[in-house]
Amino acid sequence: MRVILLGPPGSGKGTQADLIYQSYGFPKISTGDLLRKEVENGTGLGRKVNEEMKAGRLVSDDLVLELVKQRLSADDCRSGYVLDGFPRTLNQASLLENLENNRQETAFEFKVSEPEILKRLSGRMVCLQCGAVYNINNNKPQADGVCDVCGSKLVVREDDRPEVIRERIRVYLETIVPLIDYYSKKKVLFQINGQDSTGNIFKAIKAVLDDRLAKDGEN
Ligand SMILES: [Zn+2]
Repeated sequence: MRVILLGPPGSGKGTQADLIYQSYGFPKISTGDLLRKEVENGTGLGRKVNEEMKAGRLVSDDLVLELVKQRLSADDCRSGYVLDGFPRTLNQASLLENLENNRQETAFEFKVSEPEILKRLSGRMVCLQCGAVYNINNNKPQADGVCDVCGSKLVVREDDRPEVIRERIRVYLETIVPLIDYYSKKKVLFQINGQDSTGNIFKAIKAVLDDRLAKDGEN
């Protein structure tokens, strides 16, 4: 089973991917994480990626596909996996289909309003030391700007700055329409109310996945 999560930044896809992993054992493959790792390692690719991400632009299809292909060949992806942030373009969607054309597929579209996304993301701070994530709106650290877990200084990630968030939303809306159309025509698209509670969203996702896994015995 290939699960595809389509939604704007801040729509809660990452949290749902973790819940899917806990119930089904499908690992989360986030192209954002794959790209960030490349940046951290300071490779030539990483530097190019860094410039694009800083400007809120998308990274080239070839580069992203190379990273995804590498990741999908790992053993833990055999029975299924969850894609978060990929595919982002029609071109990527068809490259993905060519890569693995006999896997059952389910796509979820997370719907969240733009003001809600801005609210959720603009207060986000992360700890670069241990990876903990905080939010000044609803998940403050105990001491201002300091990580509860490891005591390191918290930072606002470059792509969580308001001007970059607005650009990310604009790019998302511009590119998502053809993808929604693509998966809808394949009859594998399911809409999710991204403003519902985390628990309710997962219930909806689980109902769809259980139904589809039962109907289609093969992966
Ligand atoms: Zn920390």
